[in-house]
Amino acid sequence: MLFEELAELTGQRNAIDGRIVDIVAEIDHDGIWGNTGCRSLPALIAWKTGTSLRNAETVAAIAHRSPELPQCTAALRAGQLSLDQVGVIAERAGEGSDAHYAQLAASATVAQLRTAIKLEPRPDPEPKPTSPPPRAITKTDGEQSTTWRITLPHPEAATFDAALQSHHDGLVAQWKRDHADDSGEDGPDPTGPVDDRDVQLSPLPTRVDGFMSLVEAGWDADVARRPHGQRTTVVVHLDVESRVAALHLGPLLPDGDRQYLTCDATCEVWFERHGRPIGSGRETRVISRRLRRALEHRDHCCVVPGCAATRGLHAHHLVHWEDGGPTELANLVLVCPYHHRLHHRGLITLRGPAHHLLVTNAAGEPLTSASLARSPTTPPPRVAPCRGPTGERADWWWYDPFETPPPPSPN
Ligand SMILES: [Zn+2]
Ligand SMILES: [Zn+2]
Repeated sequence: MLFEELAELTGQRNAIDGRIVDIVAEIDHDGIWGNTGCRSLPALIAWKTGTSLRNAETVAAIAHRSPELPQCTAALRAGQLSLDQVGVIAERAGEGSDAHYAQLAASATVAQLRTAIKLEPRPDPEPKPTSPPPRAITKTDGEQSTTWRITLPHPEAATFDAALQSHHDGLVAQWKRDHADDSGEDGPDPTGPVDDRDVQLSPLPTRVDGFMSLVEAGWDADVARRPHGQRTTVVVHLDVESRVAALHLGPLLPDGDRQYLTCDATCEVWFERHGRPIGSGRETRVISRRLRRALEHRDHCCVVPGCAATRGLHAHHLVHWEDGGPTELANLVLVCPYHHRLHHRGLITLRGPAHHLLVTNAAGEPLTSASLARSPTTPPPRVAPCRGPTGERADWWWYDPFETPPPPSPN
C-alpha cells in the first residue's frame, strides 16, 4: 500500500518537475532573469524554489536542452522519468541521443545512466594538441648562490632568448666602447673608469650580466609606471566642491563608479579643492577592523536576498558618506562585489537603515530571500504512478553506447 502511494506521489512530483522545467525554459528563453539582480539562472531558480544550487543547475540544464530532448522531457512531464534521471542526460549526453536515452532511462537508475553516458565514445579533442608544453620556474637555494630553472614553450623561449641576446649584445658593445677609450695611452678618460686595475679586472659581460640587465630594465619600467609603488591600491582624487573624481593618473569617473570605489575605503581617496590635495581619506572613512568584525558578525554574507556570497565582501554605505552618511554599523551593510557594483549602477536599490533593509530590483519590487513555495490550490497533475526504474543489474558487456552519427558525407 505504502509503495502504491509512493509511486503515485513520485509520478506527480515528476510531472510537477516537468512543468517547472518548462517554466524555467521560458524564463531562460526570454532572458528575463537578468533584471532580477541574480548572478545566474540556476541562482534564481535555487532562490525562488528554495532548493539547493545543485538541484537548480539540474533544472536549468534540462530547460536549456529541452528542445533537443523531446522524448526525455515528455516522459518527465508524464511523470515517468525523474528530474535526476533526465538531468544526467541533459548535462552530459551527446547530441541527438534523445531517443536512445529515453528508452534506456525507462529502466535505468540515475547511476546506471551516468555509466551509460560515460561509455559514449567522446570525439578526441583534436583541436587542442595533447597537453600544453610545460612552463615552470623552479628555484634551488645553494650555499653561495641560487639556481633557477626556467622551462618555457618554444615561442616564449624564443622571446626570452631574443631579449637576453639583445641585452647581452648591448653590454658587450658598451664594454668594448669603454675599453677602446681606455686602451689609449693618453691617460684616463674622464667619463670612463678611473682606476686602471678596475679596467683590467672588468671582464667581458656574460649572458648572466645580460639577464640581470634585462631584469633591471623590466623593473625600472615598472617603477616608472607606478611611481608610488601602489601595486594594488586604487588611488582616487576627489574634488570636494564639484564632486568630480578621477583615478590617479587615469580617467575621470562616472558618478556610480566614484561612489562604488569610495564606498568601502579599500581605495585611497585624496580630497582636493581646486586641484590641490587637502587631505587623504584613509584615516577617516576607513572601516576599522572592529567595525568590520561587527558587520561580519551581523550580516554573515552579502545582504542581497538570494545571494549567499561570503568572500571578498565590501562594506557598503547605505547613505554614501559624500551625502553625510556616517561610517557606523546602522549605515553599513556587507555586499558582494557583484551586487555592490550592481547597486551603484542603479540596477538594484539598497535602502536603510541596516536593521530594516529594503532591497529592490530595477523595477522597484522588493526582493526577499523566501522561496515562492505556498500551499497548493490546484489538484496534483493527473498522471500514472511512477514505480521508478527496474534497477535490474545492468549488463554493460552487451550494452551499445550511444554514438553520435557521423556527419553526412559531402558527396
Ligand atoms: Zn557602496
Ligand atoms: Zn551578492
